[in-house]
Amino acid sequence: MFDLEDRMLMAELTFSLANLPTIDQMPHVCAGCGQVVTSKHTFRLKVHRSYPGPDLTATVAGFSNEEQRNWHQFQQLFAQGKCVVELPVCWWHRWIMPTFIGIKSMTEHRVSIQGLADSFVQEMKRRGWSDI
Ligand SMILES: [Zn+2]
Repeated sequence: MFDLEDRMLMAELTFSLANLPTIDQMPHVCAGCGQVVTSKHTFRLKVHRSYPGPDLTATVAGFSNEEQRNWHQFQQLFAQGKCVVELPVCWWHRWIMPTFIGIKSMTEHRVSIQGLADSFVQEMKRRGWSDI
């Protein structure tokens, strides 16, 4: 049911960090497989410590003071664990089989999540949540 071919059909979605949707603003479909869910279980995607960008100490030298301050606030955001994206998932994907949902890329302004069900992504785009 969830073989490799299914995984290759998985889609991506990019959110603005300044405008992350809440779980109530998401469609009633599983973010992992796209089936309709009647009661929302949530999958918490914590993005702190996941920033894969250049090492701060290696890049901060060339930045202006303001850029350094923004960087600091960015680090604080994640250090405090505030940046948590909650996604609706079905019972199966919540309790039996973990989804392959993960962070694909990240900047100061947006985060791209991969491994999402295509129908979930389409519905989120229709609602205007995609930041591309
Ligand atoms: Zn599912």
